[in-house]
Amino acid sequence: MPIQVLEPQVVAKIAAGEVVERPASVVKELVENSLDAQATHITVELEAGGLGLIRVSDDGHGILPHEMTLALLRHATSKISDIDDLESVATLGFRGEALPSITAVSRLTLYSRPTGSDLGQEVEVRWGEVAQPTTAGGPVGTTVTVRGLFDNVPARRKYLRTPGAEAARIGDLISRLALAFPEVQFRLRHDGRETLLSPGNGSWSDSLAAVYGVQVAQGMLQASWELEGEGYSAWGFVSSPSLHRANRSYITFLINRRLVQSRTLSYALEEAYQGFLPQRRYPLAVLCLQVPPAQLDVNVHPAKREVRLSQEGKAFTVVQRSVRAALVGSSPVPEIRVGEVYTAAASTSATRPTSFFPATPFASDPAATQAALEGPASSRASLPVLRVVGQVQDTYVVAEGPDGLYLLDQHAAHERVVFERICAASGEGRLPRLLLEPQSVELTVAQEEMVRTSQELLQRYGFILEPFGDRTYLVRAVPEVAWGSDPGRALTEVLDLAASQGMLKGQEEALSASIACHSAIRAGQKLTIPEMEELVRQLGESDNPHTCPHGRPTTMHISAHHLEREFGRR
Ligand code: ADP
Ligand code: MG
Repeated sequence: MPIQVLEPQVVAKIAAGEVVERPASVVKELVENSLDAQATHITVELEAGGLGLIRVSDDGHGILPHEMTLALLRHATSKISDIDDLESVATLGFRGEALPSITAVSRLTLYSRPTGSDLGQEVEVRWGEVAQPTTAGGPVGTTVTVRGLFDNVPARRKYLRTPGAEAARIGDLISRLALAFPEVQFRLRHDGRETLLSPGNGSWSDSLAAVYGVQVAQGMLQASWELEGEGYSAWGFVSSPSLHRANRSYITFLINRRLVQSRTLSYALEEAYQGFLPQRRYPLAVLCLQVPPAQLDVNVHPAKREVRLSQEGKAFTVVQRSVRAALVGSSPVPEIRVGEVYTAAASTSATRPTSFFPATPFASDPAATQAALEGPASSRASLPVLRVVGQVQDTYVVAEGPDGLYLLDQHAAHERVVFERICAASGEGRLPRLLLEPQSVELTVAQEEMVRTSQELLQRYGFILEPFGDRTYLVRAVPEVAWGSDPGRALTEVLDLAASQGMLKGQEEALSASIACHSAIRAGQKLTIPEMEELVRQLGESDNPHTCPHGRPTTMHISAHHLEREFGRR
């Protein structure tokens, strides 16, 4: 193909792809504009997860009539005028790219009435074609309506997930923004239902309660630290050691009031929790950092998700020290409650010595184990017969096989076993479930979206739920394999895990894997020899014993030959 300069419409669509990845990125840009306009009330309405419609309305200072069409032009901004301004930028936007990018891939209507004016104006843009503005009645502030997102970019549409999953992302985003800006009232509506309303009264703990529930808000500790004379400080809330989650999705960082993702800061946070949390459990946190603006480069990521700090070590320090101080100042010994499956205490609890093997009544019967080791029970297996020798680091099972040494990752191995059991049971129709005294659980916006869109599937897998108003659900049953853990926690963990595993893509498999992951023995859990023998036997019986459902290995083998060679016997 000869070299040619691309048509402006093509260029615009390509550029839009950088800024606008999915409905949540549109919402993020529009809400940032509202915040930059000093709005105190921001309403986000969605239809079909934002694929049908996104509308963001605010009560900010609005746009002057003669600037309406200007606002839609590429590189048109009221926020900076010179490159040096970037060093001290106090607004969230600065590139003048959001509105033109969105208009390139949607049908957009911009309404605005500036403070002090009696009338508003409205302008329509269809796939980048701007119409004449007209006067329009309405309140002071700005409303942007986006329809048919990506209808003209079929390639992009293919990468979007279901409306429920896209709505869940938006719910997560608005939740974080509500935490970041407690003085602003955020309202989120999806298909006519209000899914989040933050108080907007300036109180961080009220915001936390609105987003994560009252119980969580009460379990948070205040954290703060300042590096004297350096201009670095951190302030916010982190969870007390008895409160934790299965993944990092409850961690929110702000740098100079900007939501950012940062591995370094996550690492600093996790490091501060060393010794306070069980393995592979993560804290909840909302931490606001202040850094000298000149040491912060905000212009490094197309969607502004990441920033660059010239003195990252100082940011690390304030996070780490603020959190550590909060933890040390709180209850000195982390609470361990009997009955929680991931604690070592629970595994040695005399009442339920073999609690991880509910489906096998003979779990602790030595005769059964012996038979399994020798007999036909493991004949299908592609694992050889193994003799358990012991456990290392409460995480790996050491065993001897016909040809050397075998190491099993106890979590991955058990995950495989439970996963296949779930798949088999769901294939036969219904997974055994345990009925409970109904227990109420409060969900996040994102979790609730998943429950609403996948309730039937969840039910097929053993979760019976009943809406109880205000993002609260009654859990009436949980899958039998998940017994022994708190039912509300079982549900929220499975939802979080499924979300991080691409739930609603391979829906059923993601759900099975999540339930398996939640229910499986954890790393760090002490096991008895009979328990380990039972695990080895069950793994031997599975169809695919060598990897866990996520594809990580369950077993490692060091051959007798290898041992001999390494020890110089050959
Ligand atoms: P940027 O935010 O980087 O300046 P945008 O394309 O997002 O670029 O917006 C362009 C301009 O439109 C902004 O600089 C601002 O002046 C105006 N604008 C956009 N949204 C709003 C709003 N909700 N309220 C007031 N002004 C707005
Ligand atoms: Mg903007």
